[in-house]
Amino acid sequence: MCQFCHQHGEGKKWYLQAKNYADDLLSDARRREMIRGFFKDDGEHLREQVESLEQLARAPRIVRSLIGPLVTRTQKRQHFGQVVPIEDVAEILDMVNQVVRVACICRRVTRGEDARYCFGVTLSPDISRLTELVDDSFLQGPDGTELEVMDKADALQFMRDAEPDGVLHSVWTFVTPFIGGICNCDRSDCIAMRSTVTLGAKVMFRAEYVAEVDWDKCTGCRRCMQVCQFGALGFSATAHKVIVDQQACYGCGVCRAVCSKEAVSLVERSSVPEVANVW
Ligand code: SF4
Ligand code: SF4
Repeated sequence: MCQFCHQHGEGKKWYLQAKNYADDLLSDARRREMIRGFFKDDGEHLREQVESLEQLARAPRIVRSLIGPLVTRTQKRQHFGQVVPIEDVAEILDMVNQVVRVACICRRVTRGEDARYCFGVTLSPDISRLTELVDDSFLQGPDGTELEVMDKADALQFMRDAEPDGVLHSVWTFVTPFIGGICNCDRSDCIAMRSTVTLGAKVMFRAEYVAEVDWDKCTGCRRCMQVCQFGALGFSATAHKVIVDQQACYGCGVCRAVCSKEAVSLVERSSVPEVANVW
């Protein structure tokens, strides 16, 4: 279990606890201000943060080892994420009352385009409690249509359909522990993933799971290797099978989505001693 499971989930998966989506958390003035500011950002603030992170990545190791943990500590209080597989996304959507799809701020910065890959979620029965905080341009997305409140089944299907493109899911806090969104990104789009994996400033946890491959089922087609965003899959030329490097695996389940032989499964990270505390 990750740090947030202990702090905010009473030893269970913290993002499956209804209290972390609760209306009373959304009522907090500081949190509402943070959410409003986040969605009013035209990307400039985030662009500056990326430039700072890239400078940090080029800095001497001693500087990185001091600044990286500071970034992480701050983000854990404000805006921190965790990778979640699709079955846990389904549980989250079962639990919340409202889902709204918005444009992705990362793609706005990295590609200069609006694409609706992010979902705001709330337990509030009144969607306006969430949408009043979100800037119109994010709600409208690329085609400029009206506010997009989504059916939960459609939202889940959208996320499921994105997986074969290497798109993985993550939950995000808006002043921890309130969870206000589910993002769907690959590594080329996602600034949080770049920050965590490439730039040395962790802003998201790995999933509570890791992948395993059943060699009795694996045919060595290597389709899974094409979608893994973390380089966690290798190939044994002698066995003609895929091997999971569980030290590198983020437990997203995207490889599982593309395996037609059902050779990949996700197991609880806590059940694999070598990576039980690798976040
Ligand atoms: S997609 Fe499935 S069958 Fe193909 S290499 Fe990966 S685990 Fe093996
Ligand atoms: S090997 Fe791990 S990180 Fe890579 S796609 Fe599979 S579950 Fe995700």
